[in-house]
Amino acid sequence: MPDKVTPVVPDRQDFQTPDRVRLNGWVGMRIEANEANRLVKLDPARLLEGYRKRPGRQSWDGEHVGKWLHAATLAWVNTGDPALRHKLDYVAAELIKCQLDDGYLGTYVAKERWTEWDVWAHKYNLIGLVTYMRYTGNMEPLPACRRMADLLCNTFGDEPGKRDIIKAGQHVGMAPTSVLEPLVLFYRLTGEPRYLDFCKYILRAWEQPNGPKIISTLLKARRVDKVGNGKAYEMLSCLNGALEYYRTVGDPQILAACLNAWEDIVRHRLYITGAASYAELFHDDFDLPNVASVGETCVTVTWLQFNAQLLRLTGEARFAEQLEHVIVNQLFGAQRCDGSGWGYYVQMEGKKPYSSDLDGHCCLSSGPRGIALIPTFAVTTDADGVVVNLYDSGTAKLPLRDGTAVTLTADTRYPSDGQIRMTVNPAEPKTFALKVRIPAWCGSSSLRVNGKPVTEVTGADGYVAVTREWKQGDQVELRLQLEPRVVVGDHKNQGKVAVLYGPLVLAADEALLGATNRTLGAVSAAGASVGMLGVKPEPAPAAFKTWPGARVFRVNAIARTRAGDPKPGAPLEVRLIPFADAGASGTPYEVWLPLNLASSSGNILLNGPH
Ligand SMILES: [Zn+2]
Repeated sequence: MPDKVTPVVPDRQDFQTPDRVRLNGWVGMRIEANEANRLVKLDPARLLEGYRKRPGRQSWDGEHVGKWLHAATLAWVNTGDPALRHKLDYVAAELIKCQLDDGYLGTYVAKERWTEWDVWAHKYNLIGLVTYMRYTGNMEPLPACRRMADLLCNTFGDEPGKRDIIKAGQHVGMAPTSVLEPLVLFYRLTGEPRYLDFCKYILRAWEQPNGPKIISTLLKARRVDKVGNGKAYEMLSCLNGALEYYRTVGDPQILAACLNAWEDIVRHRLYITGAASYAELFHDDFDLPNVASVGETCVTVTWLQFNAQLLRLTGEARFAEQLEHVIVNQLFGAQRCDGSGWGYYVQMEGKKPYSSDLDGHCCLSSGPRGIALIPTFAVTTDADGVVVNLYDSGTAKLPLRDGTAVTLTADTRYPSDGQIRMTVNPAEPKTFALKVRIPAWCGSSSLRVNGKPVTEVTGADGYVAVTREWKQGDQVELRLQLEPRVVVGDHKNQGKVAVLYGPLVLAADEALLGATNRTLGAVSAAGASVGMLGVKPEPAPAAFKTWPGARVFRVNAIARTRAGDPKPGAPLEVRLIPFADAGASGTPYEVWLPLNLASSSGNILLNGPH
């Protein structure tokens, strides 16, 4: 269904409906697993339980169904799975039946209304149902959405007699005011000005004396930890709504504030795997402990969405770089390899906390949303032609802006192998640009078109564009040199190193230490350089082969004090595994490996015994 309101700010990159991009490499397998082993398996009765019998089993139980509708709709568009469509139709219809006469569609009893997570659940119901209508074309939920939106507009506001939305939920009002995002979308869908007026009220409420001061703080202090109470998931949810508002209305201060937030997070508050926040809050510069309720998956997903919004609006490759990084490390690290479960806090060391039901936390329904969004931005179009943001085997069938149909197929085992072979098939010979992204970690790359080398020139948007007349069957060969890198820890990781390989952050996993009873505490890294560690990739052993290209990485290590056998200081060889697959069998893992620094008198073991 087309929007009634055209955004003031046109998108620089055109994100794709998920049916146009089918991936079947490593990323594609994770997307498929998300649908087949998670989204289609969830029990509708569990999703609807808190609505059919109020209140639900948790005060935030109402959020799951809207999040599922959003993720499952995108997944269904990608695969066309009739079983999932059937479930979608049923859940949307049954959810609407739970709406009360005044438009209320939350899980709270009357006397508890508009506290804690009540507006929040309405937010997710609007997101879920608007997504469902947009992609299925079934507009039956429209009146229910209108009544929900009207109830919010009539209840909250700064006119006399209305409630203060800041007081209607958690985290200095950032939870309830994150309803901004679907209300902007609903305004665009319906064209009704009262919904835009309500969005403007939310922006005023942010800046009122008891508000979180989101935009003003980001413009002046340029720090996310100073916004509201620093709660990351709710703040990023608000910022995603703010960017939707910017797209619609064009207020440049909002984009400036969001870009300040992005700079601040990337420079000061991002873990090596792309996780952000611990104890669910943004903290002081470089205050990034490895274990302290680190990396809530809801934050991982809203950070992904924030980068996706910025990529769409600006067309700059730096946001695609962050997307790849957070997806192949933290997001995949939070998803159980077979897609059936999700972790809440997925920390830099410890055990992966996978669970498969919907009880206990919010991340169980957030993780699948992040995965389901990947096909929308993996390959896009822009004013110049086609843009490749993620490298995975698969096929993209894209309309250029002038309507020319282009099919792009990719054949690769990336990130196991740096060779990416693409075939460009325009419906007719056509001059346009094919933009590829050379990742920042890549020190050496080459590009060939039909076997002939092409000089790589990086444009202002950060992409290397090959502009020529493309015709059926043109071959593009991109080679990204995959190399190990060692990051020497600072701040809370002094005396430790992390090892990366191409886009992948690696981790030690107790299951791969070379001896059955060896613990992580018994092993330290042999040095702080690639040379001393001697990183050697090899095919993953059968038990760790989560996809055909899965690899482990042999590195030099040294036995520590409590190693027992062999003696402390003795050389060992251990195998590291991508963080995405680390701890998959329930064993402990760690990203930051302690260094074993020899002093003149023998071994001084930094970091002490574990
Ligand atoms: Zn969560």
